[in-house]
Amino acid sequence: MTTLRVRRFEPGVSSQRWDSYEVPLADRTTVLDALFYVLRRHDRSLAFRCACRAAMCGSCGMVVNGTERLACRTPLADVAGSGVVRVEPLRNLPVVKDLVVDTDRFFDKYEAVEPFVMLPASMSRPAEIPPTDRVRQQIGEGLDCITCGACYSACPMVAIDPDYLGPAQLLRAFNVLEDVRETDDAWEVRADVFGRHGVWRCHGISECTRVCPKGLDPSLAIRRLKRHGYRR
Ligand code: SF4
Repeated sequence: MTTLRVRRFEPGVSSQRWDSYEVPLADRTTVLDALFYVLRRHDRSLAFRCACRAAMCGSCGMVVNGTERLACRTPLADVAGSGVVRVEPLRNLPVVKDLVVDTDRFFDKYEAVEPFVMLPASMSRPAEIPPTDRVRQQIGEGLDCITCGACYSACPMVAIDPDYLGPAQLLRAFNVLEDVRETDDAWEVRADVFGRHGVWRCHGISECTRVCPKGLDPSLAIRRLKRHGYRR
C-alpha cells in the first residue's frame, strides 16, 4: 500500500485541503488507477477527468509530486518512492472541483492562433512536399500534441502574464505558419503570435519541454518562430 494525498477544492463550496487515502501499490498500477480506487473504495465525491487511458486524449493531465504528468501513463511505483504521492490539479487554470480544471482559457488561446492551415482559394492541386523537406520534418516533430495542458501548467510566463498565448498554442502556430501551402497573408492573420503576449514573452526556460508527456519541444518551436519573426 502507499498513501495518495489529493488536493481537494470546490470553489464557493469547500476550502482547499489535502485528503489522504491508502491505495494498493501493484506493479502495473497507475496514478489514474489509484484515483479510481479512491473513488470506488474511499470517496465517491472525488472529481477528476480521464477518457482514453492511452495517452491520446490529454484529459488526465495533473500535477504529481510537483510535476505535470498524464495520470494514465504514470506508474504509481515510479512516484511512490517516499511512500506518499501528492496529486494536484494543473496550474495556471481555474479549478472547477478537486483535480478538474476549467480549460476554456487554454482552448480560447489555442483558437486565437487560428490552429488550421489557411489554403489559398486558388490552390487547384495538392502540394508536393517530399518527406525529406527540412521544414516539413520540423513540423512533424510537433504534430503529436494532445492538448493536455501540461506545458501550459508548467510555464512560468503564463503564471506571470495570464494573456501570454502559451507553449502548446505557439507550437501549433509554428506548425501551421511554416506550412508551405498557407496563403501569404496567414502571418498577418496570426499577428498576435508576434504581439505583446506572443513569442517574445517567452524567456526560454523550457519547462514546457521538460514536462511534455509526448516528448515534444514547444520551446524549440518558439525559438524557431522568433527567428522567423526577425526575418519578416
Ligand atoms: Fe501536452 Fe506537450 Fe501538447 Fe503541451 S505540447 S499540450 S505538454 S502534448
